[in-house]
Amino acid sequence: MAKKTKSKRDDTSQCEKCLPAYCCNYFAFGIDEPEDRRDYESLMWKIAHENVSIYIYRKDWYIMIHNRCNFLMPDNKCAIYDHRPYMCREHSTESCEYTGDDYGFTEHFKSYDDLLIYVKENTNFRFKQEPTGIPPNCL
Ligand code: SF4
Ligand code: SF4
Repeated sequence: MAKKTKSKRDDTSQCEKCLPAYCCNYFAFGIDEPEDRRDYESLMWKIAHENVSIYIYRKDWYIMIHNRCNFLMPDNKCAIYDHRPYMCREHSTESCEYTGDDYGFTEHFKSYDDLLIYVKENTNFRFKQEPTGIPPNCL
């Protein structure tokens, strides 16, 4: 997200190597931790959709939508850089997605199968379904 001007926090040379800008190609929001079988089925329905993943970070659950921001230009720069939202302003290259190992998540479910296997291995809810073999929603 830090792409046009240098600042104390931003290493623009790093951003220039990050193609396309990882941090401008998704958004995520927190969700309630699943507690019962219906909660898990609801998450499995959500992750059955394209470009959706689910992750756990320090025991908190999130949904991630892998979707390019409309303001990310073909040259990998932000079209509204001077007026970008605070979440973009506060994003630092020091601990960003480019340098992080899988974002540092505790768990990252990238497919229906990922979540199904987690549920089978970590809960007492009986899901008889075997993994589908459908490929991940994201890299
Ligand atoms: S993920 Fe990091 S390196 Fe890539 S554009 Fe965003 S801040 Fe820059
Ligand atoms: S507003 Fe700009 S910096 Fe923020 S996500 Fe979109 S392209 Fe990236």
